[in-house]
Amino acid sequence: MKFGIVSDIHGNLEALEAVVRLLREHGARQFICCGDIVGYGPDPNRCVEVVRNLGCTCVAGNHDLAATGSVSTDRFNSAAASAVMWTRPLLSEENRLYLDSLPLTVRNDSLFIVHASPSAPDVWKYVLTTRDAACEMEYCPGPVCIVGHSHVPMVVERLPGKPVRHVRQDEFTLRPGATYFINAGSVGQPRDGDPRACGLLYDSDGPSMTRYRVTYDIAAVQDKMHSAGLPESLASRLESGR
Ligand code: ZN
Repeated sequence: MKFGIVSDIHGNLEALEAVVRLLREHGARQFICCGDIVGYGPDPNRCVEVVRNLGCTCVAGNHDLAATGSVSTDRFNSAAASAVMWTRPLLSEENRLYLDSLPLTVRNDSLFIVHASPSAPDVWKYVLTTRDAACEMEYCPGPVCIVGHSHVPMVVERLPGKPVRHVRQDEFTLRPGATYFINAGSVGQPRDGDPRACGLLYDSDGPSMTRYRVTYDIAAVQDKMHSAGLPESLASRLESGR
């Protein structure tokens, strides 16, 4: 079975549609979302509807719960907080209830899905280094942990008796006996210097994982953000991928 894995969509419909199309073309039959469907971008309702229509196995992100009012924006920077405040009244009741119903963690096949970190799913910690990933792996109940949150793709592998290591390839086989900490990157607001939307394909029969990047109409999204009065810094960062 091939699973499409998406994360940190952030209301960017054009990026989401491009990633879903690409993952489907590569055989994805089921979809998994690591949270942050909304926040930052101009199409929160339509992105939630795409995720719901895909029948995604999905966990909650901090922006999803901030948009429903279940999480405070006290720890958000001003642009992020103002995008949440813009999103909150726009959400349909149905979509708000959907976001509020999302679990913090989910197991699917051999995958453990959480938005930020398995050690404390409701603390929204950033796991950015190999060392932090190695610590987090101790809390993962399965061989493969998939997260989002940082918007920076990362794969860390641990083989028994060996030091943890970064896997740099975009496509790799999951080795028997190994455990993995994988950041799925971001569909709607990448921050690794590559502005293209990011998505993963997990083939449980390999088992293997492939990371894809796809271009989309960034200018169209920026136009919508300008019309909506969303912060300029959020629109311009789409181009730089930072
Ligand atoms: Zn995010």
